Amino acid sequence: MIPPIANRFVAGESPATALDHVRTINDRDVGAIVNLLGEHYDERSTVRADATEYRTLVEDMARSNLEGCISVKPSQLGLDLGEDIFREELEAIVATAAENDAFVWIDMEDHTTTDATLDAYEELAREYPRSPPESGSGVGVCVQANLKRTREDLERLADIPGKVRFVKGAYDEPADIAYTRGERVDQALEALLTYAFEHFEGGIAVGSHDPAILEHAQTLYDEHGTEFEIQMLMGVREDAQYEFAESYDVYQYVPYGGRWKFYFYRRVMERRENLRFALRAVLGR
Ligand code: FAD
Repeated sequence: MIPPIANRFVAGESPATALDHVRTINDRDVGAIVNLLGEHYDERSTVRADATEYRTLVEDMARSNLEGCISVKPSQLGLDLGEDIFREELEAIVATAAENDAFVWIDMEDHTTTDATLDAYEELAREYPRSPPESGSGVGVCVQANLKRTREDLERLADIPGKVRFVKGAYDEPADIAYTRGERVDQALEALLTYAFEHFEGGIAVGSHDPAILEHAQTLYDEHGTEFEIQMLMGVREDAQYEFAESYDVYQYVPYGGRWKFYFYRRVMERRENLRFALRAVLGR
């Protein structure tokens, strides 16, 4: 059982609790990106189990008429065991999702996985192109502004018929390949978004809680009219999510599953307010 304190950031341990949460946010015009927590598997059976759960999840979401998609991690689908295993599992999930008009996002992990992740994305997005908004199938990938290579990657990504989620980057990377100062990463993200709004035909997602980044995206939208969506995490700036949903497409990243402890720890440690919130809950004040 997940303690109530973690429920702010994690939608329970079972698919049923995750779908309950999806229903709640859908009622307020926010879509869901559901993620079964898990990464760096070294057992084929664990990979297979999560892949099966994802396929069932997209079928259940479609059957329940919920506005949601999924987001998977390459190392959850076996990338540490081999690129062929990752490709095989991902393709099976994307095929099931396409049959159910559901969209599949691929999270981006550390820089050692970037090439394998972008290659898999390109192949699948060409095979299962992003469909018009009224249907919802297709494939998307996340790119990280802290990686210096990302600007060049965008030239390749601009012509692929999928979606791209732009984020600052959650992994500590070596200074020779990544910007390490927060301010420099913010600048890089703004520049990437400017490029995308100028060169992409829609399919842009901004994964950030940063008011300055979100304002930059809104200004670019006003200027270029390129379709975009805002993505934020469950439990972070939820009031802002509901407010944005009045004017833009907003999706909330909804993690769930038995492996919630590490994710919860990361959320609590990344911000002093979250740590205070956790301590207050533990101390009962
Ligand atoms: P931060 O730099 O964390 O914060 C900037 C400002 O935002 C703060 O100063 C504050 O004004 C505001 N803010 C932030 N948090 C709060 C809060 N709790 N309450 C109030 N204000 C707040 N990273 C990856 O590497 N790979 C991925 O696949 C990936 N997917 C993601 C998907 C989504 C939907 C999101 C939202 C993030 C994802 N990330 C991913 C994480 C991302 O890289 C960043 O680490 C994370 O989003 C923190 O950066 P930020 O842009 O939100 O702003």
